[in-house]
Amino acid sequence: MRIVCPSCLSVNNVPQRESYKKANCGKCKNSLLNTKPIELTNSTFDEVIVNSDIPVIVDFWAPWCGPCKMMGPNFEKSAAKFPLKVLFVKVNTENEQNLGARFGIRSIPTLMIFKAGKEVHRVSGALDESSLSKLVSQFV
Ligand SMILES: [Zn+2]
Repeated sequence: MRIVCPSCLSVNNVPQRESYKKANCGKCKNSLLNTKPIELTNSTFDEVIVNSDIPVIVDFWAPWCGPCKMMGPNFEKSAAKFPLKVLFVKVNTENEQNLGARFGIRSIPTLMIFKAGKEVHRVSGALDESSLSKLVSQFV
């Protein structure tokens, strides 16, 4: 399956397994198991969505938004539970207004889940860690 490297965004082919002890990027050699959410921009967004064979969850946020900041650590903690299962990404809607407009993001935080490049779910409002993980696990 195709996995986008969280460090350099290059596309890797990784055999599908139940769990992984080790998987490194063929290009930058960093671990593909690194679950720290990646920040996407207007120029990187489509490539990542289209080249991920695992579901992608996008957190549309902004630095001035209190609930977004509250949810940030929950998003990271939830991401740590899905290495090579779900890709967690963030879009700063203040910097990337094109993306916010394109997806009709009216309130933040808004979470969108993409599968095979298509939106399959959307929810607005901050979620705690367990609700977030529960939501994500429905799409694995
Ligand atoms: Zn890499």
